[in-house]
Amino acid sequence: MNPNDVIAAKNSGRTIPTSDLHDFISGYVKGSIDDATMTQLLQAILDKGMSAEEIFTMVDIMIHSGQCMDFSNDAQYVADKHSTGGVGDKVSLVLAPLLAAAGIKIPMISGRSLGHTGGTVDKLETIPGFRTDVSLQQFHEWVDDIGFGIMAQSAEICPADGKIYALRDVTGTIASAPLICGSIMSKKIASGIEGLVLDIKVGSGGFMPTLSAGKELGEMLKDVGEYFGVKTDLVYTNMDQPLGCYSGMWCEVQEAMDCLAGKGPADTMAVTLKLAAKLMIQSKLAETEEESDQLLNDLLTNGKALEKFHQFIDAQGGSLEETNNEPRFKIDVPAKADGFIESIDTTAIGWGLTDMGCGRRHKNDILDPTAGLECIKKIGDPVHEGDIIFQCFCCAEEKLKEGVEKIANAVTISSASIEQILIYN
Ligand code: URA
Repeated sequence: MNPNDVIAAKNSGRTIPTSDLHDFISGYVKGSIDDATMTQLLQAILDKGMSAEEIFTMVDIMIHSGQCMDFSNDAQYVADKHSTGGVGDKVSLVLAPLLAAAGIKIPMISGRSLGHTGGTVDKLETIPGFRTDVSLQQFHEWVDDIGFGIMAQSAEICPADGKIYALRDVTGTIASAPLICGSIMSKKIASGIEGLVLDIKVGSGGFMPTLSAGKELGEMLKDVGEYFGVKTDLVYTNMDQPLGCYSGMWCEVQEAMDCLAGKGPADTMAVTLKLAAKLMIQSKLAETEEESDQLLNDLLTNGKALEKFHQFIDAQGGSLEETNNEPRFKIDVPAKADGFIESIDTTAIGWGLTDMGCGRRHKNDILDPTAGLECIKKIGDPVHEGDIIFQCFCCAEEKLKEGVEKIANAVTISSASIEQILIYN
């Protein structure tokens, strides 16, 4: 296989032969293909797309770049949830312990921040001692003991996604439906699940800005799930503004714990319960969404879901007692006019958060666990000039100022009240 021929084939819209795609991806994982060459292929895929056959092949190659977990002898339903990426999206941190408390086993392989969007693994690593890069055997034991676990792609599981994901993050090659599909589905299928629910984020802060682009990606993800024998449900949710009240690092973990204590913001709880209901119904633990909501709300009010979260943090080595992520600097972002919040450029918010230390511009950037923002006003809320819309915080004053500049310019205020759809039919 000549890498230049493969890149040229894709650039001219031709299908890449299976063996060439295999050699290219495994060459990259092993190091015989460098970042610059891989970036050219990713760019060609971003520009020209992939056929369904190419996507199935790519997912298969990525799955088999490492080992797969096996839960086939398990009596419990084994399932997972994944989102296509957003800002303030801490749903995995709420849904996984909640469903584990309900009796569904969740071996969750999560990602780090990607572009302007936050990463579950990065957020969890704000807890001192918390380990996400562990052996598969250890991870399997945690999932068996607690009912769920969250780890990152590793040398053992989906290394191809680990490497390609980190490269896409810093090369402007994220927002490609086939690449998103390969990334999500390879790690989900490798984790040995029977069922999956996908949260397709649509709007100014998602990788798919419109519902029709979201649906195209959703159908692609579902086709891959079904091709590999994983029952896959889709939920389309709004990402025109950050989800919940907090976006960033440790502040999102704190908000997830509020959700698990039954005190979460309405939007985050609605999205979590909608996604969770799909898996409750798949697993036959509930027959309807109403029944699922009732069962899950009981686990939120009786403390069982939060208890699961604490067991998980302990098992994976984290210490909430030692967590001290107090930011040193804070800046308020005021409304520039009277009116109603009409729109929020949520990708700009995400890049502002990245500047403040919630994401990476370069592969080896160090994140700031204290960084984040509180979203005090949301779309449709009335504001007077000077009212605080966001409070932004982190530990580096210059970075905070840089982030705040982007965030302050992300809000549009109009004279009429606006209705927001949270979950699309
Ligand atoms: N989540 C992933 O795991 N990969 C993507 O490419 C996007 C969201």
